[in-house]
Amino acid sequence: MKAKYRFTAVLLLSVAACAALFVRVYGTGRQEERAGGEGILAVASFYPVYVAAEQVAGGCENIRIECLSEPQSGCLHDFVLTPEDMQLLSSADLFLVNGGGMETFLEEVAAQYPSLTVAETADGLVSEENAHAWMGIAKYRAQVDAVLNALCKASEDDAPQLKANAAAYDAKLMALKEQQEALRDVLAGSKVISFHEAYEYLAEDYGLEIVYTLDLDEERQVSAGEVADVLKAVKEEGVRVILAEELYGADMAETIRKEADVAVCFLDTLVRGDYGADSYIDGMQQNINLLKEAFGVN
Ligand SMILES: [Zn+2]
Repeated sequence: MKAKYRFTAVLLLSVAACAALFVRVYGTGRQEERAGGEGILAVASFYPVYVAAEQVAGGCENIRIECLSEPQSGCLHDFVLTPEDMQLLSSADLFLVNGGGMETFLEEVAAQYPSLTVAETADGLVSEENAHAWMGIAKYRAQVDAVLNALCKASEDDAPQLKANAAAYDAKLMALKEQQEALRDVLAGSKVISFHEAYEYLAEDYGLEIVYTLDLDEERQVSAGEVADVLKAVKEEGVRVILAEELYGADMAETIRKEADVAVCFLDTLVRGDYGADSYIDGMQQNINLLKEAFGVN
């Protein structure tokens, strides 16, 4: 038995030694990389901003884009910075954020890294109550423009490439905008119920009137009173379509569908993905298709 313990102890010590070595090698490499002053590191706070930055900085070898939060973590309402996040920010040249209250940790970051440039891309685009700017296509185009300006300032040599990339991306966004505007002509004035705060700016794009919002931006219990409120709104306002999100709204949607004759449109809030640069384009196109289906538009 004693020999067995000794073996385990030696094994654990070896693992610890290897780990320590790895951390040292990795840490040193990183510091040298930054100390050399080569390249720009732009950290995006979360997925929609990350996707915009990837599009704008594509092909610029001098600029590296990192996403602070995991691409599956969604909105940042409850986000708490980890020591790893702080370490990433310590080596950043630029912090691209949504702003408008989405990142509740900005003061903490400013206190820790007062010289870090922070670009609030939704500045002036959103109300105090709702920071989900990217859900409106025109607002998102403005955010992409803000990303472009911030990156041009951070890396002037790359400005021509950045501008060309942004223009190409904007052409794709304009194509989405044209579809959205055509659909607005048909949908404007329709009453909907929203199961997610993020759909306010999307509804605005299509002239949809949200008669009731049940904000399911996180896992939580829905009360019997809230179910009754939704059903009442469906009946009294003649709502035919509910805008919901699959992750947190599916159960509630099922509950309502059992009681009332409404279509549920599961839209993408565009805050999750697989790091694909076309995540926003694809997600918003899908949203347009789903809205057409839910409202029976050909
Ligand atoms: Zn949100």
